[in-house]
Amino acid sequence: MRLKAERQAVVDAARRMTESGLVVNTSGNVSILAGDTVVITPSSIAYDTMTAEDVCLVDLASGRALPGMLHPSSELPLHLAVYRSQKVNAIVHTHSLYATALTTVMDKLPAIHYQIADLGGSVPVLPYARFGSKELATMVAAGLDGRTAVLMKNHGATTIGPDLPRALARSITLEWIAKLYHQAALLGNPALLDDAEIAAVLAAQRDLVASRDRAIAERGSVMAPPPSSPALSPPRGGNQLPLSLGEKGAPGDPPRRPRPHDSRSTTSERQRRIRTPARPLRDAAAGKR
Ligand SMILES: [Zn+2]
Repeated sequence: MRLKAERQAVVDAARRMTESGLVVNTSGNVSILAGDTVVITPSSIAYDTMTAEDVCLVDLASGRALPGMLHPSSELPLHLAVYRSQKVNAIVHTHSLYATALTTVMDKLPAIHYQIADLGGSVPVLPYARFGSKELATMVAAGLDGRTAVLMKNHGATTIGPDLPRALARSITLEWIAKLYHQAALLGNPALLDDAEIAAVLAAQRDLVASRDRAIAERGSVMAPPPSSPALSPPRGGNQLPLSLGEKGAPGDPPRRPRPHDSRSTTSERQRRIRTPARPLRDAAAGKR
């Protein structure tokens, strides 16, 4: 079977998407780019019974499925448009509950938690366009310029990454932050982080990555096996740190933001970066009507 490992990776991600509660039934779709081939979930096949053989292979240039394939996801135009315009290797599209609910009453998911830095900061809600349409595909592809997540009005969310685990993790992060915002807005006006603080978070995360990589390299040199020993497995640390820490300007990530003049800012400076109040969810909803 051609691209067997990639097709199995798509099956595994689709199942995890279901297990994580990001989709119901056959909604949502997942793809990776393997060379000039898009490896994408088929249309209307249950994830729990899907096999690698069911996963579709589509030529990126022509947009046509290779002979003998099932019908690709109805959002194939979206996946093609993103791969043709952004340097990414994986896409996850979901209809996750809190993120989708938020699209019906707000214009963006605000920066209520620093983990939103991994999504490129606050996440915009794109205007509504019908599923599977060229209009939606064009909007999503353009909306992902400089960020790793977008919300789609009255529809759902799309995240990207240098690989499928990271694109999927971003969908999970996005849904968690949308739920967090919902919960906070029920209590009052959530305080928000401004762009400068998000940029500082990214800089701090990159410093941590560099530090982690140095530690791994040093440990590797100390624990290197003798030449006759089998190679060591990849260090576990790579999967234990937050996902945003594992990427150093990887394709698909937002362009590096300018490092703040003082990344070791004082507590009072950091406090000033926390804006308040935000509009509660119900106010935002009222304003939209
Ligand atoms: Zn959809």
